[in-house]
Amino acid sequence: MDSTRDIEASGHRDTLADHRPGPARRALTTEAVHAGREDLAGLGLHAPPLDLSTTYPSYDSRTEAARIDAFAATGVLDEGPPVYARLGNPTVGRFETGLARLEGAESAVAFASGMAALSAVLLVRIAAGLRHVVAVRPLYGCSDHLLTAGLLGSEVTWVDPAGVAAAIRPDTGLVLVESPANPTLAELDLRAVAHACGTVPLLVDNTFATPVLQRPVESGARLVLHSATKYLGGHGDVLGGVVACDEEFARSLRQVRFATGGVLHPLAGYLLHRGLATLPVRMRAAAATAAELARRLAADPRVSRVHYPRIGGAMVSFEVTGEAHEVIAGVRLITPAVSLGSVDTLIQHPASISHRVVAEGDRRAAGVGEKLLRMSVGLEDVEDLWGDLDAALGAAV
Ligand SMILES: *Cc1c(COP(=O)(O)O)cnc(C)c1O
Repeated sequence: MDSTRDIEASGHRDTLADHRPGPARRALTTEAVHAGREDLAGLGLHAPPLDLSTTYPSYDSRTEAARIDAFAATGVLDEGPPVYARLGNPTVGRFETGLARLEGAESAVAFASGMAALSAVLLVRIAAGLRHVVAVRPLYGCSDHLLTAGLLGSEVTWVDPAGVAAAIRPDTGLVLVESPANPTLAELDLRAVAHACGTVPLLVDNTFATPVLQRPVESGARLVLHSATKYLGGHGDVLGGVVACDEEFARSLRQVRFATGGVLHPLAGYLLHRGLATLPVRMRAAAATAAELARRLAADPRVSRVHYPRIGGAMVSFEVTGEAHEVIAGVRLITPAVSLGSVDTLIQHPASISHRVVAEGDRRAAGVGEKLLRMSVGLEDVEDLWGDLDAALGAAV
């Protein structure tokens, strides 16, 4: 089910998806800079304000009672201050507005991390009595672990993309896929999977592609999840998660977030909103470098296989003929660390780190072997990066 092609065969794209503005829609790059900032000029501000309040004063507790009732019942807080930070925060709200616009979704709901976001989605479905999940491997290691361990009371059926429709049961509440997938960069046909889901919501983890390369809502996904920790923040200094979806599902997510508390800190919301402004520029620059590194790796005899997605992007995975651990030990400019999507280049060994929590047999079956390395390409010069990789590969033969 690995839909990535070997670089040699692919003549891969190094251009990004073209998001031309529709009649009523502005270009992605314009939205990235302006969405969530529409009211600033009216406020007499240029930079978005950072509201760190945990609580908000009110002398009218009758009105507050009615607002809290309404929020608990609907997941919508009416006009007025936020009451208490767990119900919502205006700085985080700006990030949510921006991300929803970039994904072409009605709404977005932000959480403390990508895993908190996924947990909230599962809790919404489990609370509705729909505890069965259909999922395609590979997924990010901890997403796989959360489903496999059934920590929230869900039950998972793992399938190939072609097996989605047959695996759906009356109690199926969610279909979960990643494309390109972490860490093999396997891609799947989102439109076909969305069709196979019928009325069951499809959640696409779009962390690797970002809305710059792929907008799953346009392919029929009802939920789009991001580990905002990665490309949306983009600088390796903020942990966050977000789900872009229709307003109806967003209301359920806000109710769960209010009751379970996995809120995004306002400073994180501020940094993530700022990160959105440069997301298209960062993705394009890093993707161009990644495509060139993928090309060179594919031509290198010390590398047996390169995975680089058809849609492009800044992630490259590759299998070495020598000892993968020695490549990790050999890099000097590139940082040997888990995570991805930062301005600097990171490399890691999925079988040891990001996918360690997945059982070895399941890992192997999903293509995560001992020889596989996953690299997140940053904004350094391509020759400096290649020089470092070349030396590290030389130390590993
Ligand atoms: C990192 C990651 C997650 C988890 O996000 P956190 O912010 O670390 O909780 C989920 N999905 C993918 C694809 C990831 O790479």
